[in-house]
Amino acid sequence: MAARVLDGNKIREEIIADLAVEIRELKAAGITPGLAAILVGDNPASHIYVRNKVKACQSLGLYSEKIELPSEASTEDLIKRVGELNRRDSVDGILIQLPLPPQVDTQAVLEAVDPAKDVDGLHPVNLGYLVSGRPGLVPCTPAGIVEILRRGGIAMAGSQTLIIGRSNLVGKPLALLLLREHATVTIAHSRTRALAPLARQADILIAAIGQPGLVTAEFIKPHATVIDVGINRLTTPEEIRRLYRQSSVPLHQLEAKGSVLVGDVQPEDASEMAGAFTPVPGGVGPLTIAMLMVNSVRAAKRRRMDQKKTTTGSR
Ligand code: NAD
Repeated sequence: MAARVLDGNKIREEIIADLAVEIRELKAAGITPGLAAILVGDNPASHIYVRNKVKACQSLGLYSEKIELPSEASTEDLIKRVGELNRRDSVDGILIQLPLPPQVDTQAVLEAVDPAKDVDGLHPVNLGYLVSGRPGLVPCTPAGIVEILRRGGIAMAGSQTLIIGRSNLVGKPLALLLLREHATVTIAHSRTRALAPLARQADILIAAIGQPGLVTAEFIKPHATVIDVGINRLTTPEEIRRLYRQSSVPLHQLEAKGSVLVGDVQPEDASEMAGAFTPVPGGVGPLTIAMLMVNSVRAAKRRRMDQKKTTTGSR
């Protein structure tokens, strides 16, 4: 029996519908949550990501602004702009679109963001909250993966969960979030030996690697849940034939569009072996921006409601 598809677009719609109610309530209290995105240089993918984030804000009625800096901007230039946004009350969330150019000290810029406005959840204060289990702002892609599992009806508590990938952006924070959900978490990475037999023990297998189709049938325990975080762009028919042995649809897509997006999991193997899986595109991807919107609203609520309480309290 073919595996159940965990539809990221559908789950995103559910999250956005819930969020729209919260935004209406905030607006009724005179608060319009606002997000500012800092974009450095002319990386085309970064421009597309920021455009999509601004669009998502607009469709939800959030305030948004885009700050563009030239590719030769320095660490000091960025920290100065971040400082200005930290002080502006109308800005609830500050997003630094990564990657930054090589001359910029990325960590110093991320650490300059006010933790209360750190909607990407990458400030050490928020990462510390995550480690110690206190409420804070959580990185968007890992938060989206937990939403997929929760809303997809996948039991996390007690599950054997393997995450392949140990990045600060995905693997590490995801491990902490899943621990919070009472999963038994293992993290694998590029130096892990005998990866396939290890993966085959997992009830939930999460691939966040960046290598097209690395996860094949021999990695997947029958009926496991497979979450594919990878986003890889293929541009040759040979690469596509290696990933798709049955379907010729991707080859037609390549002819029409010049490239095809794939994940880290062999899609046909996931469909045959897994109990449920996320497709690429249309799985984890749509959740990342949705969770950015959730974080922006959460940041606005916490900071501005706190301000209101303090002002009222001091009267
Ligand atoms: P990264 O390059 O920082 O980390 C990749 C990880 O994979 C590393 O920890 C490395 O140890 C591990 N790895 C590499 N080769 C391996 C191998 N052969 N076997 C086992 N482990 C191996 O990447 P990242 O930022 O964590 O992103 C991972 C993937 O997820 C990328 O394809 C990226 O584009 C995608 N991504 C998607 C979203 C989304 O919204 N869907 C968000 C963030 C990242």
